[in-house]
Amino acid sequence: MAVIRPDNVRQARILRLLRDDGPRSRAELGDAVELSRSRLAVELERLDHLGLVETAGLAASRGGRRSSIVQIARQTRFLGIDIGATSIDIAVTDGELRVLSHVAEPLDTRQGPEVVIGIALQLVGKLRADDVSPGFVGAAAGVPGPVRFREGVPVSPPLMPGWNHFPVRETFAAELGCPVLVDNDVNIMALGEKHAGIAKSVDDFLFVKIGTGIGCGIVVGGEVYRGISGSAGDIGHIRVDDNGPICTCGNAGCLEAFFGGAALARDAVAAARAGASEELARLLARSGTLTAADVAAASTAGDPVAVGMIRDGGRRVGQVLAGLVSFFNPGLIVIGGGVAGIGHALLAEIRGAVYSRSLPLATGNMPIVLSELGDRAGVIGAARLSSDHVFSAR
Ligand SMILES: [Zn+2]
Repeated sequence: MAVIRPDNVRQARILRLLRDDGPRSRAELGDAVELSRSRLAVELERLDHLGLVETAGLAASRGGRRSSIVQIARQTRFLGIDIGATSIDIAVTDGELRVLSHVAEPLDTRQGPEVVIGIALQLVGKLRADDVSPGFVGAAAGVPGPVRFREGVPVSPPLMPGWNHFPVRETFAAELGCPVLVDNDVNIMALGEKHAGIAKSVDDFLFVKIGTGIGCGIVVGGEVYRGISGSAGDIGHIRVDDNGPICTCGNAGCLEAFFGGAALARDAVAAARAGASEELARLLARSGTLTAADVAAASTAGDPVAVGMIRDGGRRVGQVLAGLVSFFNPGLIVIGGGVAGIGHALLAEIRGAVYSRSLPLATGNMPIVLSELGDRAGVIGAARLSSDHVFSAR
């Protein structure tokens, strides 16, 4: 496997700076990374030799000799893979993590790792066919379950039967021929928000994904906090009611059992069948199934049952978040994932619950907002995770 990484921390710092801020003149770069002109020249020569940076013309004069512009090599490619419980998103980015191409398809992770990874690799093949670049310098994949980060294997993921201890990272790495990292999907989405989303200028925040399941990415000092074994932020399995419904994890009354996408669909179908909601019954008759999006549509149409489901769910999520706010004191909470598509009705409930249950000092300057990256958060975050790894000293 061709592994291209910088030799030392100075080179790593140069690469991260060029990734985050774009092309810079040599003079500016030297100032930013605090290297002498000769030291910088040595490090850049090495990075150029590795094929990671290149020169792109001359900068405007600052007085004296004009300085050349340095940028991440245009051919640099990262691959971001975001496997959700019911969909997959894959994107190829350049070295500044701009999305060059992106595919998304519905997919059921319960088909097992061989099938799902096979589909992922097929989609990668399609994207690669359209690209001029020779290959990826790195890749990362997010999966919707707990991951032992160091080994890149899922551990007893409730939404992914058959994936327990499957060597996801090794399998992808063998096929892609580049370094691969595997993480929980919520963590990569949080990184995406940090890199290109609404959390760009915030170093301490929570990203809450409400998809089929519910999880929380914890960003501390600009880095994802994963805990000792990788399960930090698994808030979907916090118990909110002793007498609640049975959860996919086997316990009862988990937050996710009340209000993930799967729980919403279950409750919506039950309401439609029981004759409680004409609107949901109509939508069920039309497509034979109901999703969180149908509940959103019914709610927008004024259906009281759908409105009630969103209200109750938002309140329960808010109740858990209020606890997290007291504990963590974040600067921002970003809500994303498929169910977040319900939008402002849900956001209003969550805000109401959090603001009324937290101390003013914690919430005085803490916005709760919807993700603006949508389904791109995961793939951009995966590319960011991979680039943090590749752009670090070996
Ligand atoms: Zn649970």
